[in-house]
Amino acid sequence: MATNPNQGGKKLVRSKSGLRMVAANSAFRSPFELEEPPWVPDSECSQCMSCKAKFDFVKRKHHCRRCGKCYCDKCCQHKVALPRLCFLDPVRLCYDCAVITQKENEFYDKQLKVLLHGAAFQLSCPDDMENLSEPCLCKLSADHRFLLFENAGHAKHSPVELEQVVAIQILTAGEDSQGNIVANGLSIKHKERESGEIRHLQLIISATTDNRRQSLAFVGAVQKGVKFMYEAKESRGL
Ligand SMILES: [Zn+2]
Ligand SMILES: [Zn+2]
Repeated sequence: MATNPNQGGKKLVRSKSGLRMVAANSAFRSPFELEEPPWVPDSECSQCMSCKAKFDFVKRKHHCRRCGKCYCDKCCQHKVALPRLCFLDPVRLCYDCAVITQKENEFYDKQLKVLLHGAAFQLSCPDDMENLSEPCLCKLSADHRFLLFENAGHAKHSPVELEQVVAIQILTAGEDSQGNIVANGLSIKHKERESGEIRHLQLIISATTDNRRQSLAFVGAVQKGVKFMYEAKESRGL
């Protein structure tokens, strides 16, 4: 295991599956990250777990890096980028895992960028009957762990830890002239880590915002991100 101190709290690890760049302290890892699966032991597989071809000196075993199951070359030939398991290079995947991973990579290519870039919202705290009239930039922290709320570099609300989000809901404001439901924000319920108290925060897309499309994209990306976070928690048995 090598550690590169210049990687901003990350370390390079080499497992049998390949090189991965992971958080130096696992408590600070991305909430979207999945656990590396254990490999089905060679001794337990005499045939491909998909096409049932028998393994021998010619037909070799390959493990899918995502599910850890054992396949022949033909059934495990896809080399796909797998950022959710922090691999630096594309890795060998079985057919099913390749399909899932390619779909997920859209999140990394598009929605994660939207989250890191941020979008304008007005905040409302229904519990405190508090409306913060100043618009703020809501964005995901660089380590993916927090939603931050800033205005001109100043925090307008304490960060919300993504892993403590217990429920989200799209806020709507009636229908447009074509009868389509108009989304105008996102309701987030999250748990305070210390007190365990459930807090409620609303991100409202201001009617006067000049970039409504970006705010809507952000709302969709938060939904997807929260789904990824729940899946990742499940993969860690939480
Ligand atoms: Zn096969
Ligand atoms: Zn697989």
